[in-house]
Amino acid sequence: MGAWQPFDCHAHTTFSDGDLVPAAVVDRVRSRGVRPSISDHASHAARTLDTPDLLRQYLTELSELDGVGRSAEFDWHDSLWRELPDDISRQFTHRIGSLHAITLDDGTFIHMWQRKLPAGLTPDAYMDQHLGVLERFAREMPVDILAHPTLLPLPYRGMPLEDLWTEPREIRATRALAKAGIAFEVSNRYRPHERFVRRAVTEGVRLSLGSDGHAPDQLGDVAFSLAMTRSIGVPDESLYDPSVHGRR
Ligand SMILES: [Zn+2]
Ligand SMILES: [Zn+2]
Repeated sequence: MGAWQPFDCHAHTTFSDGDLVPAAVVDRVRSRGVRPSISDHASHAARTLDTPDLLRQYLTELSELDGVGRSAEFDWHDSLWRELPDDISRQFTHRIGSLHAITLDDGTFIHMWQRKLPAGLTPDAYMDQHLGVLERFAREMPVDILAHPTLLPLPYRGMPLEDLWTEPREIRATRALAKAGIAFEVSNRYRPHERFVRRAVTEGVRLSLGSDGHAPDQLGDVAFSLAMTRSIGVPDESLYDPSVHGRR
């Protein structure tokens, strides 16, 4: 057996908004000593895996690449994941779920990349709603990994994560993930604060590494993520590996 190598559970190709075709992504990731998997966006939106036929073509192409994880990044707010035929669903080695947008209790739709939020919505009020959605996501969505758990709306990105993710909120989030058996992604792209990652471990949540790479310089770059999991004492072998931990 060779030395342990990290698994990049989250990477994009030209099947959605990535720069490289799958075989080139695999070469790039392996050149860093990292094991590759592909996880393109799957939703009803443009430039994603938006039809069953396209998903089948994608999965067939990935299955021809030896030792490559077959995944997709599904949007909680989009209905595609609820409509997947079984023959498609069972071909994934792991499935990733993302909160790229949420709906507030009053019906307001908030996308994480919108520049303006409703007047009168405070960060605290938003975060309470975000936690409610995260708990519902964990109960309902059949995925193995929550991508970039600290991703928040654009107007909040400059604020300290520790202030938005208060300790009670971290506890709610990690308990919901633990109960559902969903892994917490330590994303290189949307980097979580260490206290939250420690909390995930304390609550019994498995961690996964994800470059969320789209461009060649990002693909397979899990150095930050791995440095963090190691610094808090998580054994490499316990990090999410689809070939070991399988699907929920
Ligand atoms: Zn994402
Ligand atoms: Zn992604």
